[in-house]
Amino acid sequence: MVLTKHFKERRSVTTQLREHGLRLTRQRRVIADVLQQAGEHLDAPEVLRRAQQQMPGLHLATVYRALESLKKLGIIDELDLMHVNGHGHFYEARTNKDHMHFTCQRCGSVFEIQDPLFEKLKTQIMDRHGFTLRVARLELGGLCSSCTAKIKEVT
Ligand SMILES: [Zn+2]
Ligand SMILES: [Zn+2]
Repeated sequence: MVLTKHFKERRSVTTQLREHGLRLTRQRRVIADVLQQAGEHLDAPEVLRRAQQQMPGLHLATVYRALESLKKLGIIDELDLMHVNGHGHFYEARTNKDHMHFTCQRCGSVFEIQDPLFEKLKTQIMDRHGFTLRVARLELGGLCSSCTAKIKEVT
């Protein structure tokens, strides 16, 4: 699948664990590292494929369990990326700043967007409703700029 503009600045898993005072099993650490180093959003079978290079005996069921607990710990995020590539979910390591995802429903490209407006929106929601936001996930779908241009050429 086509994946572009994936932010490089992921928080190191080790740093996050230190902050939380947590320890991880080797399996979870390997899986967290795979996502940390990935240049794109990965689905569970792809996480398995990459993690198996370090842990050949790993099974998909273990990967799913590890992803679940890393998600609960706030180390990784789960996305559906508008399901343009089927029903699977995708995973990524948390970034320093929350970002939005835009998926092109025509070519399948995924863009990560950081925008001060998103930060402002979060602050406003907390202020107005008295919430404490811990997770903010916004997924957008439509046509990317090059697909928009192509569609304009045709019509
Ligand atoms: Zn596109
Ligand atoms: Zn992302």
